[in-house]
Amino acid sequence: MILEAEKPALADEFNPLLSAEARLDNAAALLGLDDGMRKVMRVPAREVTVNIPVSLDDGRLEVFTGYRVQHSIARGPAKGGIRYAPDVTLDEVRALASWMTWKCAVTNVPFGGGKGGIICDPTLLSPGELERMTRRYTAQLYEFIGPEIDVPAPDVNTNEQTMAWIMDTYSMRAGHTQTAVVTGKPIDLGGSRGRAEATGRGCMVVTEQALRRFGLERGNARVVIQGFGNVGGMAAKLMERAGFNVIAIVEYDGAVYNDKGLDIRALAEHRQKTGSVVDFEGGENLGREEAFFLETDVLMPAARENVITSQNAHRIRAKILCEGANGPTTYLADPILREMGVFVIPDILANAGGVTVSYFEWVQDRMGYFWNEQLVNDRLEEIMINSFRDVVAYAEKHEVDNRTAAYMLALDRVAFAIKLRGIYA
Ligand code: GLU
Repeated sequence: MILEAEKPALADEFNPLLSAEARLDNAAALLGLDDGMRKVMRVPAREVTVNIPVSLDDGRLEVFTGYRVQHSIARGPAKGGIRYAPDVTLDEVRALASWMTWKCAVTNVPFGGGKGGIICDPTLLSPGELERMTRRYTAQLYEFIGPEIDVPAPDVNTNEQTMAWIMDTYSMRAGHTQTAVVTGKPIDLGGSRGRAEATGRGCMVVTEQALRRFGLERGNARVVIQGFGNVGGMAAKLMERAGFNVIAIVEYDGAVYNDKGLDIRALAEHRQKTGSVVDFEGGENLGREEAFFLETDVLMPAARENVITSQNAHRIRAKILCEGANGPTTYLADPILREMGVFVIPDILANAGGVTVSYFEWVQDRMGYFWNEQLVNDRLEEIMINSFRDVVAYAEKHEVDNRTAAYMLALDRVAFAIKLRGIYA
């Protein structure tokens, strides 16, 4: 996708905060929001930076820097994932936190938005080191998180185990077990059925709604997915099972293609064994760019930010772009996609299934009563379909693209909450 040589020229475009701010400003202007309100929503309510000392296995002491940004608590506690990656920046976490606010507003989930990150390379850390880093990060954030304050969840390179450590550390500090402090936990520790699949399932549900607008159905829809992790891998599995034709999976080290549709379970086994999707016998190897820009009905970027930019957006040959990742498209690519007539299901709608089932998990923890998987999936589907319809109807009514519509809807709801509450002084 992005060639190394292009990176310096794209430095600004690559800052996700610029994309977040540009889209917010655009939506605020179209809504005619007053400037004060725009200013309030443009900045995070709270930012915490922590330096986390960790004893490494070899006896050395290392210090990692971590963040937790709470963009808004206007509609409820802050909510959002924590990611571990070497290239985490405060601006990235700020952008991601604001996207959580808009995501929860679009789906009408009663949370604000937050996000956390630690600058580290988790592949270089042992399980023990990861545990100590996670627990110390939690301890340093103790007074800033909590079921009523800010509820973390998994994100890039964090998982159920990470959430179990956070829950335990928080509970030990509190003196009693507090399962509702995080979501995305193991089911045996108060996690929700259906949470692990939720983001992928939500992507599938909205994709199907979009396909109908093109007179297409699952059985004749071709899908290209970038990323084979929690979002992309789950979406691929669920979509194949539901009858979609997943023709290509693009990963960081190559891509695999089969025009008749890939056998996702076999591919997952192959990756488990070899560490890569490349050289899978049920498909052929393809260059990453070649696969990403294949002619297809649905393209689903489901990895990290900045995959679709001003430099490559014109090469997309998909009818529908379903943004499984957060921020896969830069703001400078937006007008190109609009011009080309690509039907965009924006990230703050497309991947909102994860936080929606996180909300269900939080509710179940607080009720102390757990739902069966069918109930979780049915309620998720209802929220995703209604949110999709709200966004598309808004776009048509106001003659704007889907992303702009989603932002306008979200900003309007958050601004309304802020107005109702008034400014405490
Ligand atoms: N990390 C996920 C996201 O970006 C889930 C957040 C959550 O469940 O709180 O939406």
